[in-house]
Amino acid sequence: MSERANTSEMLSTDHLLGIQDLGVADIDLIFRTADGFKEVLSRPIKKVPSLRDITIANLFFENSTRTRISFELAEKRLSADIINFSSSSSSTKKGETLIDTVSNILAMKVDMVVMRHPDPGAAVFLSKHVRACIVNAGDGTHEHPTQALLDAYSIREKLGRVKGVKVVIVGDILHSRVALSNIHCLKKLGAEVMLCGPTTLMPRHVESLGVRVEHDLDKALRWCDVANMLRIQLERQGSDGISNFPSLREYAMLYGLTMERYDRAGKQITIMHPGPINRGVEITSQVADHTNSIILDQVENGVAVRMAVIYLLAARIPRAQ
Ligand code: ASP
Repeated sequence: MSERANTSEMLSTDHLLGIQDLGVADIDLIFRTADGFKEVLSRPIKKVPSLRDITIANLFFENSTRTRISFELAEKRLSADIINFSSSSSSTKKGETLIDTVSNILAMKVDMVVMRHPDPGAAVFLSKHVRACIVNAGDGTHEHPTQALLDAYSIREKLGRVKGVKVVIVGDILHSRVALSNIHCLKKLGAEVMLCGPTTLMPRHVESLGVRVEHDLDKALRWCDVANMLRIQLERQGSDGISNFPSLREYAMLYGLTMERYDRAGKQITIMHPGPINRGVEITSQVADHTNSIILDQVENGVAVRMAVIYLLAARIPRAQ
């Protein structure tokens, strides 16, 4: 994996703004490319020179630990030049607009922007106003496409396929960009998707996305092959002035995945969590560390999948060819 992407194998999009940008063939290409990068990551020298001529700006206008580190590592493993920028240290605090901030960075000959932003649609907006490849690293409650790709990739790795797999996404669906991107990605790949959580954390009319809705976690666990336990987005609760559930303790009683609940389902269930985990709330330590938990595989695969996304998008940048 040291050559540029084969030109006959290109993504059909110049940006990754949401899963909707990708066709099934694109996702398949990303997964096959990530397989190659996983092999690179297992070598003593975990680095390829592919993107020596590319400069990437990581713009994080919202807190992030693992996504930021994962992107940064993916870029370094590809030998790209990178600059990191977070809103706490930026001129956005001095009143500069997003377009001005990004245009100034691009004037320094940056080719690609990886952006996390608290506003839904920020990545789409930026892609329409600046001339650079944009990768959405999470836009508010909207989408987190690389998370969904690494989640589906991890299911494929664990179960050998995604098509026909029954996946339940549990918890704070209302505020979760991970849920929306996962729904789009899993549906595209032919998985069956169920959402489970309290009514107050379930978006209205969500069934129109072709998913089932179940409010009883025990029933959902009996149905599924994979349970993706979402983090309660504490920072986004009550944004409309209404508390979405009485207490974390009550939430954990009804929707927390405990060993007792897992055993009651009477089957092997693959456990996932996008992180960061609130141990004892959406999942107990025993379940998080269970042999069927692939939580750390998700983190590991995140680097290979992000390498694949960046590598394939870079192949579409005219000056990079
Ligand atoms: N890390 C994921 C995200 O940024 C999940 C989470 O924060 O709950 O959306």
